[in-house]
Amino acid sequence: MLRSKMCEIGVEIQNVLKRIDVAYGARSKDIKTSKPYLVAVSKTKPVNMIIEAYEAGQRHFGENYVKELVVKAQDPEILQKCPDIKWHFIGHLQNNKINKVVKLPNLHMIQTIDDEKIATGVNAAWEKLDIPNKQPLRVLIQINTSGEEAKNGIQPNEASSLFKYIKENLKNLQLEGIMTIGAFGHDYTTGPNPDFISLMKVHNQICIENEFRPEEVQISMGISNDFDKAIEMGSTIVRVGSSIFGSRVN
Ligand SMILES: *Cc1c(COP(=O)(O)O)cnc(C)c1O
Repeated sequence: MLRSKMCEIGVEIQNVLKRIDVAYGARSKDIKTSKPYLVAVSKTKPVNMIIEAYEAGQRHFGENYVKELVVKAQDPEILQKCPDIKWHFIGHLQNNKINKVVKLPNLHMIQTIDDEKIATGVNAAWEKLDIPNKQPLRVLIQINTSGEEAKNGIQPNEASSLFKYIKENLKNLQLEGIMTIGAFGHDYTTGPNPDFISLMKVHNQICIENEFRPEEVQISMGISNDFDKAIEMGSTIVRVGSSIFGSRVN
């Protein structure tokens, strides 16, 4: 039987949203972080799939390659059919790419700020940008909770000072919280994911030091194979790709 791709994407999004609700319902009431929302990770997937997801009601999308985000965010069909799309940049940001990213239409958030230099660069680039009704740019600090050398992000014990630095000095940034990618393939029969434990500790420290309530600091953790677990532990932003758009070749 022939089924159109568009229907399938809408169905997958509904499935993921249901799982998000269930996991949120199962979260201990002692964890007072906010209700999670879904960022659909569309990397390597074509524009028509993004439009289908948008038409199914999805608004937040994540991309982690600068080149790809540059093309998609400016795609005429996306601009026309998805006027309220919210792009999250979730890949590694190099200094020489900052200007390319910040000027993109409908850029909602950069999730991968991981040192003072890149934060300062993004702050300056956003300040220079001439767009109507400009608000501070939303950012998250990326934390390398797994300590793997290949992973980007600031070390957990350095996160709270970077947080303070941005809060106090970079007025063009709206610092919303923290993010981790973490090690792949944690075996849950051995217990909770140590990356999630580590990120929640950083969250707690930031809240205490800055006198924020838990729901005031966002936590981006959890992907297709572990977003339920991440939400139960406190995640407020899940980045889900393959469960919505199908597996990727690369
Ligand atoms: C690709 C990617 C995801 C989504 O991974 P899936 O396993 O497809 O859900 C989430 N976060 C980041 C940073 C990614 O690069």
